Amino acid sequence: EAAHVPSAVHHIPADKVCGRAKDVVRRLQKAGYEAYLVGGCVRDLLLGRTPKDFDIATSARPEEIRKLFNSCRLIGRRFRLAHIYYGRDYLEVATFRAPHDEGDDGGKVNDEGRIIHDNVYGTLEEDVWRRDFTINALFYNPSNGELLDFVGGLDDLHHRKIRLIGDPEKRFREDPVRLLRAIRFAAKLGFDIEERTRTPIASLAILLEAVSSARLFDEIIKLLHSGDGLPTYRLLREYGVLQHLLPLTTESIEEDSTGNFARMVELSLGNTDQRIAEGKSVMPAFLYAVLLWHKVHLAAVSLQLKGMPEMQALHVAATDALRDQVDFTAVPRRFSNITREIWALQSRFRHRDLRRANLLLGNARFRAAYDFLCLRAEAGEQVKDDAEWWTAFQHATPEERQELSNGAQ
Ligand code: ATP
Ligand code: MG
Repeated sequence: EAAHVPSAVHHIPADKVCGRAKDVVRRLQKAGYEAYLVGGCVRDLLLGRTPKDFDIATSARPEEIRKLFNSCRLIGRRFRLAHIYYGRDYLEVATFRAPHDEGDDGGKVNDEGRIIHDNVYGTLEEDVWRRDFTINALFYNPSNGELLDFVGGLDDLHHRKIRLIGDPEKRFREDPVRLLRAIRFAAKLGFDIEERTRTPIASLAILLEAVSSARLFDEIIKLLHSGDGLPTYRLLREYGVLQHLLPLTTESIEEDSTGNFARMVELSLGNTDQRIAEGKSVMPAFLYAVLLWHKVHLAAVSLQLKGMPEMQALHVAATDALRDQVDFTAVPRRFSNITREIWALQSRFRHRDLRRANLLLGNARFRAAYDFLCLRAEAGEQVKDDAEWWTAFQHATPEERQELSNGAQ
């Protein structure tokens, strides 16, 4: 049974609801369909946070949605969604879906069947139960201000609890990415994961290894590049999940007795969070450059000891590390190529003659590679002199640059 909560009780500020989303809901309702705002936006509005996007759930079928809106495009094969465009922006409208049936154990063999099943349309009541956490299953009707709560989501929100709907182990097995989502929301909102939801996490984390590497790449970016990367990373370690998501990074942390690498990861994630808070851009390529650096550095040094030239050693080590990582999470080529460049430039920071230094300064990846060098220095690697020299060099006048490079020779 749903609790119908009036606006006088839940206090969602009506003026914080996106006007376009309100219009779309109203238009669907006028045409005789049910329509609600749902998911993250309702949760964030209740918490006084600014929603990232406004998702709409409706009883209208995709084809019916398309008939109502000129700028509508249907996307997705496994589950069809409607996107209603406003210039480059769009609102996502999803038809109510029914949950997987009881017999589905979510095993790999059942994958196809499970996905097909996901596309079975359902009622509002059914749509509630296929959602992951109670705080993500609240439906808000902006036309009358009413909030629908079937699963105690409002109560959990007030008690700051992340709670899976239904049997936690079953729900995690159905879709192991929910393990990551539990941790992501806990870190982002500063909530606790409720005990029954928390208990199976460590033992089920191995299921992540069967999730497609493309989906895991997307999740890694959401986990570590959404503004709360550092607390999220710490929770991932605490819950024993990181080792199944980023096994090479976890191994490196354990192998590195200096602690430099662990410090580098923490510093980098902290910097990233700060950049995002300041509205600056962040690069997945840089993140992967950090996460795999210890492996690459170690392998390159050992190849050099066997007589391989430095640049070639770095290249071979980079190829190996990226290939190993891709077994777990995909790293799209457009990112991994930049990751390689960041690593390759590390060996060129030692050359301080004027011609080569100016050349490096003009390299498209200089900024990222220099930031990477500074991070290494700050974490405790023996590259502090290089970092300081390059800091001075790039801010110097042409005359000072001449002097700096003479002094270095
Ligand atoms: P964010 O602020 O990160 O966007 P969100 O809750 O909106 O948070 P989305 O990934 O945008 O997260 O998903 C929208 C909604 O779809 C969720 O609130 C949840 O109800 C449902 N959902 C998303 N992923 C899953 C999943 N793996 N299993 C069950 N329900 C899910
Ligand atoms: Mg969302």
